[in-house]
Amino acid sequence: MPNADEREKKKVVVIGGGVGGSILAYTIQSSFEVVLIDQKEYFEIPWSCLRAVVEPSFAERALINHSDYLPKAHIIASAATGITGTQVLTADGHACPYDYLVIATGHQDCAAKTRSERLDHYKAEFEKVKSASSILIVGGGPTGVELAAEIAVDFPEKKVKLVHRGTRLLEFVGPRASEKALEWLTSRKVEVILDQAINLNTFSDGVIQTSSGVIIEADCHFDCTGKPMGSSWLEDTIIGKSLDLRGRVMVDEHMRVRGHQNIFAIGDITDTAEVKLGYPAQRHALVTAKNLKLLSMGANERKLASHKLSQTYAIISLGRRDAVAQLPMGTLCGSIPGRLKSRDLFVGKTRKQLGLKPK
Ligand SMILES: Cc1cc2nc3c(=O)[nH]c(=O)nc-3n(C[C@H](O)[C@H](O)[C@H](O)COP(=O)(O)OP(=O)(O)OC[C@H]3O[C@@H](n4cnc5c(N)ncnc54)[C@H](O)[C@@H]3O)c2cc1C
Repeated sequence: MPNADEREKKKVVVIGGGVGGSILAYTIQSSFEVVLIDQKEYFEIPWSCLRAVVEPSFAERALINHSDYLPKAHIIASAATGITGTQVLTADGHACPYDYLVIATGHQDCAAKTRSERLDHYKAEFEKVKSASSILIVGGGPTGVELAAEIAVDFPEKKVKLVHRGTRLLEFVGPRASEKALEWLTSRKVEVILDQAINLNTFSDGVIQTSSGVIIEADCHFDCTGKPMGSSWLEDTIIGKSLDLRGRVMVDEHMRVRGHQNIFAIGDITDTAEVKLGYPAQRHALVTAKNLKLLSMGANERKLASHKLSQTYAIISLGRRDAVAQLPMGTLCGSIPGRLKSRDLFVGKTRKQLGLKPK
């Protein structure tokens, strides 16, 4: 069998330069002719972005231009708008041929196109927090909880209210982790209002009413409700029939899109029975990298690697020192889980995974 250098390199197009797409493109860039299509020119480490709201310079290491870790790939900073059996089409008019395609468009994202615009965004968010005396956070998932905690620790004098539609915070983990997060926030004087919805379109002159009529006054607000799946653009493509009712791409155990031999999907956009987090997305990417190499070498289908579903463990940071963690050995809250995540928020580790200096 010819080795990788003797063969003409196959073309792999990766759509989406988030957690899954970035590590996949990085891993295979020497073995394939790789094209990364992303709406943004940079990769953002998502689990660091809430610290950047209270400390904008924290984003300097967490916003990484794709060209910094993908010297061998071709990068197209545009939205993918179509897929045919042989090409991916983009909003700026590219038609990118592929031998293999990987879809990694996660959740819909309207982040700034350039790194410097994103840095400016965090500076503006910081000024918004600094100049407010009362702050409303809508959504009690990990984003809302982590943001409330960052503000409560760095700006203890601000009145922070967190309104959540569900009956407990952090519904993606067990009730014990929810209780601990609630206790922690309450002890930092964050007012948590559960089981009430808010329509942010009705926010006017700093006043808004919850679904059960509670009036909330706030100088500013943050919408931390979930984002929709980034798959609506796939509906009218050859992938349309492989979407489930929730708009997720159905994949087999090899991370191949059902009904397609040479198209893979990874990360949040897939229908794997796992919690949608970064570490499953990275594991999907590594299995896919392995399978792309095997397929390109003409390996037998039966030799393809399979993805084993990830366990639900999670660490939700609570400011700069503490965290609540659901781990295989139990649920912990305080500075011990905080030491695992909350100081650097895994920024150094994630940079190293992309072959970059941690600092
Ligand atoms: C605030 C926050 C904190 C989090 N904290 C943690 C944590 O602590 N631990 C953890 O494991 N997980 C965490 N997560 C979840 C984790 O970030 C996601 O599960 C992970 O990012 C999913 O990776 P992905 O590659 O599927 O998608 P994403 O990382 O969302 O990347 C999708 C990419 O696709 C691009 N894109 C979308 N549509 C198109 C298109 N049509 N054309 C081109 N590009 C497109 C987007 O611009 C983006 O770059 C957090 C998420 C958020 C938002």
